[in-house]
Order: sequence, then structure tokens, then C-alpha cells
Amino acid sequence: MNSQQRTRLLDAAERALRNAHAPYSHYRVGAAVLADGGNIFAGCNVENASYGLTMCAERVAIGAALAAGNKNIRAVAVVSDGPEAPWPCGACRQVLVEFAKDDAPVLVAIRGHLRAAELTTLGELLPHAFRLGERA
Ligand code: ZN
Repeated sequence: MNSQQRTRLLDAAERALRNAHAPYSHYRVGAAVLADGGNIFAGCNVENASYGLTMCAERVAIGAALAAGNKNIRAVAVVSDGPEAPWPCGACRQVLVEFAKDDAPVLVAIRGHLRAAELTTLGELLPHAFRLGERA
């Protein structure tokens, strides 16, 4: 991921955050994934009156990538309103493992402070991830 892709990815996540449906927690999150080929797909959190049905922004972004035919994710960015960096939840980490390699960069940032984004890798976030055989 080069610096231009990093900027585009964080910007896309921040834009998606504005569309979050978070009437219950008021915690808005936007996520974006960089797919093989350079396309970026975004998602936002989608809450529901039945709280357990809430979808995280990361998984919505992954779904958007898949729906467009992209199963290989190179990098991920997540942006929230804060006050703390929005590290992906455990469920999203496991879903990311399905479509991204351990060395995939994961950026997290607070809206309006994208230049201060923190960077790690998927492997750092979820070591010893559960995998069912090798990916095709
Ligand atoms: Zn999540």
C-alpha cells in the first residue's frame, strides 16, 4: 500500500462514517478495504433495534467488496468518531482473515485526525487465527 492508497482508504472510511446508522449507540464507524486491483470498497456500521443484529462497518465493507467480485483484500482502514481508535472487534478480525493475508495493513483513526492513524497488520490483530485449510 503506497501513501496515495493509504490516503484514499482512510478518506473512504471517513466518508462512509457519515452514513452510519447508529441511532442507539451514536458511535459511528466507517471502514474501507483495498482490494486486489486497487479498488476501494466502503461500509458503515448498521445498527438495529434488535441490538444483536447490528453489523460492523468492517464486515459491511467486506460484503461490498465481495458483491463486486473482489475476494482478496490488501488493506483495511477503520475510522470512528472517537474518542479512542476503533480497533476491529474479534468477529471482524476473524472475517478479515478469510479474505486478507496476515501482513495486510490495518489502519485505525479518529475522524478529523486521519494523519494520526495507527497502523498494524491483521496478523498482529489476530495471531493464530482459525483457518479451515488453505484458501483457494
Ligand atoms: Zn466488528
